[in-house]
Amino acid sequence: TSRSGLTDTIAAIATAPGSAGVGIVRVSGPNALAVADGAFVGKRRPSRTAGGRFLFGQLVGADGEILDEGLCLIFRGGRSYTGEDVAEFQTHGSPAVLARVLARALELGARPARPGEFTLRAYLAGRLDLAQAEAVLGLVEAQTDAARRQASLGLSGALGARVTRIAANITRTLAAIQAMLDYPEEGVPDEDRAAPLAAAEADLTALVQSARAGQISARGARLALIGRPNAGKSSLLNALLGYERSIVTPIAGTTRDYLEAGLELAGVPVTLIDTAGLRDTADEIEAAGVRQAHALAERADLVLALEDGSEPREALPADLPHGARVLRVQTKADLPTAWTDPVVLRVSAVTGAGLPELRDAVHAALIGDAARGEAWLTTERQADAARRALEHVQAAVHLPDDLAGYELEEALRALSDLTGRDVQEDVVDAVFRNFCVGK
Ligand code: GDP
Ligand code: ZN
Repeated sequence: TSRSGLTDTIAAIATAPGSAGVGIVRVSGPNALAVADGAFVGKRRPSRTAGGRFLFGQLVGADGEILDEGLCLIFRGGRSYTGEDVAEFQTHGSPAVLARVLARALELGARPARPGEFTLRAYLAGRLDLAQAEAVLGLVEAQTDAARRQASLGLSGALGARVTRIAANITRTLAAIQAMLDYPEEGVPDEDRAAPLAAAEADLTALVQSARAGQISARGARLALIGRPNAGKSSLLNALLGYERSIVTPIAGTTRDYLEAGLELAGVPVTLIDTAGLRDTADEIEAAGVRQAHALAERADLVLALEDGSEPREALPADLPHGARVLRVQTKADLPTAWTDPVVLRVSAVTGAGLPELRDAVHAALIGDAARGEAWLTTERQADAARRALEHVQAAVHLPDDLAGYELEEALRALSDLTGRDVQEDVVDAVFRNFCVGK
């Protein structure tokens, strides 16, 4: 029986809907090999085939009708993705073939798998932690290389390892506190209590900060271009896209609606939103557009506030969205400018000058200094757990020992939530092996 203790066998089409060269039906559970014996005829019976092997043969219906020819891959419990016995049928990838093969598996006793259920079983079998399971989803959904990289790091267990490191330092502090309470006369050196706690706090702070970068790399960022009519919003959008998308026009106030364009900017998936110009206006339609610009900017992860460099500099509108991050950009850098104050970002949509610097600035604003090569928090669930852990650790810093101990236990609980693993149990042994209580 499987480690997860589940008794039913699940089946699903694992490949995308539609026609393709190859399609896959996956079966997992205690009866997976029996299902394969019933649905597949090859040189050898699937149930007599060693794990990690494949057979060539025919998929057959109940009455022996040949449905298709293809491969049957066998994975044995404990050495499969789900931890259970798994059979995978690779057939020609038409909806008709796949529907019949799946129906045959169900006829033979499997039930339709629910979304994510194969990965859920992998988690229940202890083959993945929660963060890894989320990374599997991230890999399935990755639209850009940045998203793929983070998901792949998560799946490798790098995030779990980062969390375990933090948990180890918290546990070390707890042990020191316990020693202090048990043997007050011995005294516990400050390095045993304060140092690991400070390290845990620093690591957790960096981890929490990585959530913004991680979520942006996974789901992408919304970037709103705002500025007065004729500031050069549409031109900049087109320059960034490298092709014509919105209508660039010299007449003020014609971008009444807004346009969205998706692109990869410095490795980050970005949706650029070209808003209507911000200005006081009596025109009803335009006024609606201006309101919309404000609303869009408020929901954006980053706002590029464009100002025409060939015009006298004006103050940014006072009602610029609250809370949103704003990068001020001077446009039309190819034209003479009367500006006297230094500007950080000057771009020309005509010559392309300043675009690389703009890309870098956008990257810095979105990803910040979340360390490259480190695993980031990629879901709100993970971020929430990490924030709770950090709050408890910060509370512990200034509390007397007995109360600090309580906060640290809560912090460990939050970290267990993050990975869905009992981190405490994981690290306790390793930590206490090296820790010397009262000497
Ligand atoms: P929007 O109203 O903010 O979207 O501004 P547009 O992108 O439609 O540009 C308004 C006018 O400025 C158009 O005539 C553009 O050709 C011109 N323009 C935009 N960007 C530049 C630039 O970088 N250099 C120059 N010389 N003209 C530009
Ligand atoms: Zn425009």
